[in-house]
Amino acid sequence: MTGNGAAERTARPQAPAQPDSAGPAEPGPRPPSSSGPKGCQQPLSEHYDAALLDLDGVVYLGGRPIAGAADALTEAAKRGMKLAYVTNNASRSPHAIAAQLAGMGVRATAADIVTSAQAAARVLADRLPAGARVLVVGGTGLRLALRERGLRPVSTAAVQVLVHATGREPVVAGKPEPPLHAESVERVGAQRPVVVGDRLDTDIEGAVRGGADSLLVLTGVTGPADLLLAGPQHRPSYVSADLAGLNASHPHIRSEGGRFSCGGWTVAVAGTVAVAGTVAAAEARAEAGVSSHEGSAGGWLTVSGSGSWIDGLRTLCAAAWSPGGAAARPAGGPQEQRQAAEAAIGSIGSAGD
Ligand SMILES: [Mg+2]
Repeated sequence: MTGNGAAERTARPQAPAQPDSAGPAEPGPRPPSSSGPKGCQQPLSEHYDAALLDLDGVVYLGGRPIAGAADALTEAAKRGMKLAYVTNNASRSPHAIAAQLAGMGVRATAADIVTSAQAAARVLADRLPAGARVLVVGGTGLRLALRERGLRPVSTAAVQVLVHATGREPVVAGKPEPPLHAESVERVGAQRPVVVGDRLDTDIEGAVRGGADSLLVLTGVTGPADLLLAGPQHRPSYVSADLAGLNASHPHIRSEGGRFSCGGWTVAVAGTVAVAGTVAAAEARAEAGVSSHEGSAGGWLTVSGSGSWIDGLRTLCAAAWSPGGAAARPAGGPQEQRQAAEAAIGSIGSAGD
């Protein structure tokens, strides 16, 4: 999915925002697990000093560049953000990955690439004496990373063979496990990193476990319904259609009396409050070229108002992730819950609006 970056970049001024509102959307301490997406008055590329970026589904998709990604990264770097590309693909060397990125117009050197192979080599180097022999299950990238850490790679075998033979579970270095995140933070010297990715169970969970903020882009495997249904460990701090969201501010989501509002949209958990039109919604309807929808969505979330699609999604997330929204999830199995999530998404129009 692409598009809507333009809408984000030209978002109307928001209501007076919290000072430096990268914190929780609501005043006072509140665990991120029950908060909606955060607000950030500044473009993320100015608020955070470094981005730890996933590659597939973020910069390219199946080897083909994602439209606008290279420009967004160039712009982020221009604003002073350090960029590191963090991949669970241990088979290729950082040089090979940097060369691929260069071919897509993304300025990156091998030093900007952090692989799970390098994180694994670091984990081993911390546990083994220099020159120790390491049985390698993997490709060139892994052997190279081991040598860089002073270890000696020897022959290969399959992971499951080792697990069966030794009866021990392997230590995992890739996302969402902490070593790759730690290696990336150290590589770029990040004080305040934001993790950027397209997967909830690797990129976003890795950020949550590492205590970092995160931006989910919808150019890869995660769809909007997946996001609404995400559990606490899988909820990003921010969501945007694509990497243009890195150079955009993110609107604050207001919460009052069980209603969540952002950018002209208001969402309530169905059955908890009566939703009336809001001033913001009326203002937004006056704008040309935006969608306008109203109605109950699958008996779970009630949507009213209009505005940009991505703001609608942010507002839906805030309601769905709230304690009331979690409690009101439709009974039944995953299929019923997915239907309710799809219905809610349908109430904000389509991503191109
Ligand atoms: Mg990915």
